[in-house]
Amino acid sequence: MPLYEYTCGECGRRFEVLQRVGAGSDGVACPSCASTKVVKQLSTFASAVGSASSMPCGAPNASACGSGGFS
Ligand SMILES: [Zn+2]
Repeated sequence: MPLYEYTCGECGRRFEVLQRVGAGSDGVACPSCASTKVVKQLSTFASAVGSASSMPCGAPNASACGSGGFS
C-alpha cells in the first residue's frame, strides 16, 4: 500500500497514512489534534516513480532510447 501525505486543516500538522490506492480521506484523523479536517497532498513518491519508469523518449528503457532501432 502506498503512503499518502496529509495536512491537518486545524493545526497544520503534516502526517502520512498508509492507504489503499484510490482511498479517500474518510476516517483519516490528525494524530496531533484528532481533527478529520485533513487535506490529502499530492504524493511526491508517486510522481517520482512515474518519471523514473518512463524514459523521456517513451521507450521502456534507456538502451532503446535514441538507438535508431535498426542496425
Ligand atoms: Zn491537527
